[in-house]
Order: sequence, then structure tokens, then C-alpha cells
Amino acid sequence: MSEKIPYKIYLDENELPTEWYNVRADMKNKPAPLLNPATGKPCTAEELSHVFCDELVKQELDDTTANIPIPAEIREFYKMYRPAPLVRAYCLEKKLGTPAKIYYKFEGNNTSGSHKLNSAIAQAYYAKKQGLKGVTTETGAGQWGTALSMACSYFDLDCQVYMVKVSYEQKPFRREVIRTYGAKITPSPSETTEVGRKILAEFPGTGGSLGCAISEAVEAATKQEGYRYVLGSVLNQVLLHQTVIGLETMTAMDKYGIKPDVIIGCAGGGSNLGGLISPFMGRKLRGEADYQFIAVEPASCPSLTRGSYVYDFCDTGHVCPLAKMYTLGSEFMPSPNHAGGLRYHGMSSILSQLYDDKLIEARSVEQTAVFEAAQAFARVEGILPAPESSHAIKVAIDEALKCKETGEEKTILFGLTGTGYFDMYAYKAFNDGTMSDYIPTDEEIAKSLAKTPKI
Ligand SMILES: *Cc1c(COP(=O)(O)O)cnc(C)c1O
Repeated sequence: MSEKIPYKIYLDENELPTEWYNVRADMKNKPAPLLNPATGKPCTAEELSHVFCDELVKQELDDTTANIPIPAEIREFYKMYRPAPLVRAYCLEKKLGTPAKIYYKFEGNNTSGSHKLNSAIAQAYYAKKQGLKGVTTETGAGQWGTALSMACSYFDLDCQVYMVKVSYEQKPFRREVIRTYGAKITPSPSETTEVGRKILAEFPGTGGSLGCAISEAVEAATKQEGYRYVLGSVLNQVLLHQTVIGLETMTAMDKYGIKPDVIIGCAGGGSNLGGLISPFMGRKLRGEADYQFIAVEPASCPSLTRGSYVYDFCDTGHVCPLAKMYTLGSEFMPSPNHAGGLRYHGMSSILSQLYDDKLIEARSVEQTAVFEAAQAFARVEGILPAPESSHAIKVAIDEALKCKETGEEKTILFGLTGTGYFDMYAYKAFNDGTMSDYIPTDEEIAKSLAKTPKI
């Protein structure tokens, strides 16, 4: 049977999903609602509509509709780079000498270099449909800013990106790609917003953080007529759009009669992992099948494995609603780990609830071990993986090596979220042997957790 499975399973474009799958509909314990920090009450659609597009607010608050149609315009755009291939990692299996069967879903086949375009195009579409002039956002490592600039140029929307200052300086080429797509890009914290000026006064010379950049982008959106804020991860709506990853994977696997035993993804804000596992989780929640799900996070920013499940601020400036999530505290400053996309202090409310219900597991891994896995993978599979994605590779390899010991022929599936061409300083540090593994102390985490709001 396994000889028949090709190296790459490509679906036909007619097999692209026509609906996103909303896993909340099948969750017994729904994720906790966003709270208005001023009233302590769940945010209403009206309140959220000042920050987000109307249709996205609806998706954010919808805990009951299982299948949400993907508009034709979005499917047309998806066809430029989707369906994404599901790859059987025959070469990696051989190299590891494992009886396990390893598959990965590759999301790096577009200029943004990651899965983020799947949600960027949806968010830009709804903004355009609402007749808005433009959107604002933050970007850390730069993948989200790139994806959103591509989506906005497609729909002819203005796009303003606040990029974490250290990344802005360290990744000049990422910045130029964003500018090529016509977005305006500002290093954050900046003097252009009130919250930016406040943060600069308090921490002069700071390299910024995702939390700061979010605060600036939200302020910029609310202060300009015809603008809304968009976010590349964490939110329910983003997980929803990313289910296109899991739905395609499920179609491809079902077609060949493959059933994954273990499904692995890296987890920053949780959108790629949530998107990959959602349809499989749906089957599990409905009692139709069982799978082991593993979220992988960096040891330097371990929100699931060492954080608390509480309401917290989503941003440093405390302008966003409060979210109940596994968090390290909004003032947690992760060490300069090279996987910029995994440095957020919190985690998607959906994944947090699933983790709290013990439906998914989590592991944290150190960055040199991650780069060893990245190098091993690049050498046999030919793709230079993003540092974020390499967290999933690391755990997939660990699981495959366990199978080698036990002789189990498990089927392992992981999400390969993107490519690492803009992360060559990280690869350089690894190749030079100067990469370090910083793990926060319990005291550091307790200190930032002490500042979560008392709800
Ligand atoms: C942003 C990013 C991630 C992490 O974000 P999630 O929302 O947790 O998926 C992972 N991989 C890549 C390549 C990214 O750009």
C-alpha cells in the first residue's frame, strides 16, 4: 500500500475546500469570550466593530456554525498558491531509519513564505467588501506583514504595518518585500502614536515587541476614518481561515486511506496548529476517530507548558480586549529567540481551552536542538525550513525516533509552515556555533504573571 503513495500529494484546484470549519461548534467547553477591560463584561459585536471589520466580528463571536462558506473571491486567490502539497517525507524516514511514516503539509509555496496568507487574503477581502480605505497591523518576524501587504495590494487597500523595531533593523529584505507590495511600514515603537511615545519615554532605546506593535496598530486604526485593525494569529477568526490547511490535508489523506496517529505543529499564537488540527479535532470531538495532537513551543517563550490559564491583556499598551488564554503575562519579554513568529506571550483561546481539556499536548524545545532538526531536514528533504516550522520538525523527528526504538509504524503528520530564507542570521548563528538557549526562570515568569488583571 505505502509504495503507492506519491512523494507529493497534490489535490486538484476543484478539491479546494468551499467552507472553513469552525471547531468551536463541536467543542463542549467553548473558548472563553473576549472581555471589555473597562466593564469586565464580554465584548459585544458593536464594541468589536470599532476595531475589526463587521464580517470578521461575526466570525470571531460565532461558536455554533460548523461550516462557514469561503467567498468565491477568496477561493480564486487561494487558487494562485493552493492546494498546498502534502509531502511524504520518504527521504527523512530513510535517513532516520524509522518504521514511522512521516508526512508534512507545506505552506511555504508563496512569496510571504508562510501560511499567513490564508488569513490575510480573507481579512483584506472583508475589509474591502465593507468599503474601508485600509487596514493597520503589526508584524514581528515579518511574515504576517508580507502576507497582508500582498493581500491588500490584490484588493487595492491601503496597508499600514508596524514592524517590531529589532526585526525592522535585522531583516531589511523582509521590509523591502513589504514595500514592494505597497504597504507603509513603520518601526515600532514609534513617535507616530500616543502609545508608542509613551512606551519610548518609559523604555528609551527599546527594540520593541509584538505587544507594543499591536498597541500602536490598534491606535492607528481607531484614529483614522475608514480603517480597521487586523491580526495575523491568536484570534478565533484567524484559526478559522487557517482550517483550509487541515481540510486540504484531510481530503488528501482520506483519498489515499491514510490515517495520522500523531499530528504536530508549532504554536506561536496558535493559528497554523489550530488550522491544521481543527478538522481532525472535529472528528475526535464527535467520537469518530482518535488522534494525538502535539503543540510545540520554544523553551524561551513557553506559554502552554509554563504559563497560566487566565484572562490577560493581548498587548503591552492594554488597548485590546482581554482574552482568557495560557499566558506568560503581557509584560513577559521573551529572550531574542530566532523564531520571531513564536514569541507571543499568549495563546489562542481555542487551543488554550482544548489544552485545558487535555485534548492536545504541548512540548517546549530549545532552539539549538530546533536548528539541528532544521539542518537535518533541509539536507534530506531539500526545503530550507523557517525556524518556527522547525519546532514541529524537531518533535516529528523525536516521535519518529521513538518508533525506531519500539518498532511501531506510526503515521506522523506535521505542519511545515514556511521557509527560512529571511532567517539567515539565525542559521549563521547556528552554523557559527554561537547560538544560545535561553530559558526563563520561574521567578521571571511569576513576575510577569503577577501583573495579569484580576478577573
Ligand atoms: C507566524 C508563523 C508561525 C506561528 O504562528 P501561529 O499563529 O502560531 O501559526 C509559524 N510559522 C511561521 C512560518 C510563521 O510565519
